[in-house]
Amino acid sequence: MQNKIKLAIIGFPLDHSRSPELHNYALNYHHIPGEYKKLSIKPGDFAQTINELKNKDYQGFNVTVPYKQKIIPFLDEIDPLAQRVNAVNTIRVKEKRWIGYNTDVTGFIHPLSALNIKINRALVMGAGGAALAVCHALKDAYPDLGLIISNRSEERLRLLITHLARSGATQKIDAIYPLEAISREQPIVDLIVNATSIGMGDMRNTSPLDFSELNHYPQIAYDLIYNPEQTQFLKSAKKYGVGHCINGWPILVHQADKSFQIWTGKTFPRELYSHHKKMENKE
Ligand code: NAP
Repeated sequence: MQNKIKLAIIGFPLDHSRSPELHNYALNYHHIPGEYKKLSIKPGDFAQTINELKNKDYQGFNVTVPYKQKIIPFLDEIDPLAQRVNAVNTIRVKEKRWIGYNTDVTGFIHPLSALNIKINRALVMGAGGAALAVCHALKDAYPDLGLIISNRSEERLRLLITHLARSGATQKIDAIYPLEAISREQPIVDLIVNATSIGMGDMRNTSPLDFSELNHYPQIAYDLIYNPEQTQFLKSAKKYGVGHCINGWPILVHQADKSFQIWTGKTFPRELYSHHKKMENKE
């Protein structure tokens, strides 16, 4: 009989994580016996719990907020992309060795490349972990890109720009600080990305940018949030005629699909890419 596969997501808090639904669906679909669980680890227990997990027979993990960087010293090996981004969201355990990968970067580009639109200039709002993956993905995919980053706090914005420069970004990177200054600066861009938390949870009725304040509209508005499916940011973009509006669901599924391939060698069933219709409002 085939051995059972043991997979889990590590993070804190994990109440809203959709990863178990996706991975357990894919395990069932491929008739792979095993389970994908949530392992919610409080920050004070992180090091001890990780060391205990090293003696358990897990074959893989996803890593999410706030541990994507904190996990790195616990790895035996790191893939070059994860090393450059300095963030790990996937671990494969091979003969007791923990190998770290980053599948968030390709997850972000996937729905953009499907549009086949030339992107010359992009504005990314946010400077947290998600913005870091987005900026790396954009600069890898579009070598001539003009990148503008805007954030609420100046310190994190500067840290992100310094990190990008150190990791070999050759593109020009401009900063707009704070977010409210975007409407004063009126940047002309092809793509605007919301990589802030504004639009979800307690902030679900707000948007980091009101398109009514812009003189020029991008071709693409991209929100990393997938619940709600249509954030205020995407609603505002649609109202002002932005042609392509993308939410965070395709990234979530694509990065999960890549992780699943690393662990099992199999791909996600196609229906998971439109599964959000059944899952939305399940908060
Ligand atoms: P993070 O590291 O905590 O960063 C949060 C970002 O949001 C920071 O730029 C922060 O600005 C900004 N922010 C938070 N509250 C704000 C407020 N009230 N006003 C203005 N700015 C505010 O989180 P993250 O991991 O980067 O995640 C960011 C978003 O991306 C979240 O909504 C998350 O759900 C989404 N996400 C989606 C996926 C997916 O698979 N679809 C994957 C990853 C993340 P400061 O720097 O000033 O604090």
